[in-house]
Amino acid sequence: MNDNKKKINDFIEILKWQIDIGADSMVEEKKNNLFLKKEKIDKNQITEDFFSEMPSNIVANDQLVINKKNDQYLKELKNCSTLEMLKDAILKFDGCDLKKTATQIVFADGNPSSDIMFVGEAPGAEEDRQGIPFCGASGQLLDRMLASINLDRKSVYITNVIPWRPPGNRTPTDNEIDLMRPFLMKHIEIVMPKILVAIGGSSAKAVLDIKGGILRHRGVWSELELDNGKKISTIPTLHPAYLMRAPNQKKLAWEDLKSIRSRLSVL
Ligand code: URA
Repeated sequence: MNDNKKKINDFIEILKWQIDIGADSMVEEKKNNLFLKKEKIDKNQITEDFFSEMPSNIVANDQLVINKKNDQYLKELKNCSTLEMLKDAILKFDGCDLKKTATQIVFADGNPSSDIMFVGEAPGAEEDRQGIPFCGASGQLLDRMLASINLDRKSVYITNVIPWRPPGNRTPTDNEIDLMRPFLMKHIEIVMPKILVAIGGSSAKAVLDIKGGILRHRGVWSELELDNGKKISTIPTLHPAYLMRAPNQKKLAWEDLKSIRSRLSVL
């Protein structure tokens, strides 16, 4: 095998391995030719002058610019009073890198006048393709869970903490959740449901700031206090994707669903 063929084969193996571990997107903004030989630095030439040429405050300044930009987005977010305005504000927001790798925004589904709002984690591959939350495999189980307490897509409102699919369906990071929380809180404030259901650990973390695993917190009602002072009865429950992996936990989800049903019946 000649040198070039070997390089190409090695490259294909690296790509296959990346796909296996779920890295299905490139996130760097600039092209980076990994085959280009980098100039080698002779260690003996590294002197104090070498370091003094480097801008020492570059990271801090970059962060400052990002924070200032995000402050601007947050100011505009405060003025959003409709779902259309909110969707527009999210479409304009450039502070979260997940936007760069996703196909499109996945905003919400269902009935915005519903008494009950469900908040999932983030779109998966199918949701990213269709632009609708919970339209893939876990959505089918969610639909069956809703049906078990006489609800459906037309009688509930559904959104996610993160409106863009994380590459490879990975769990959103704490930083991504923190970035998108103000948008989620505004979303809740506009819909103003009487009951909020946080589906899964990431959602419970974003909405209720829970510490520790979802199994410890699921099924427990608490009050979410919004910036406008209004309070919403909120319950964390298990995510259908988790229930598909651990079907013996469905009995716990059923307890939560019954609890939701009885709250709805006294509204
Ligand atoms: N999982 C979620 O949390 N949300 C979706 O929209 C799809 C899968």
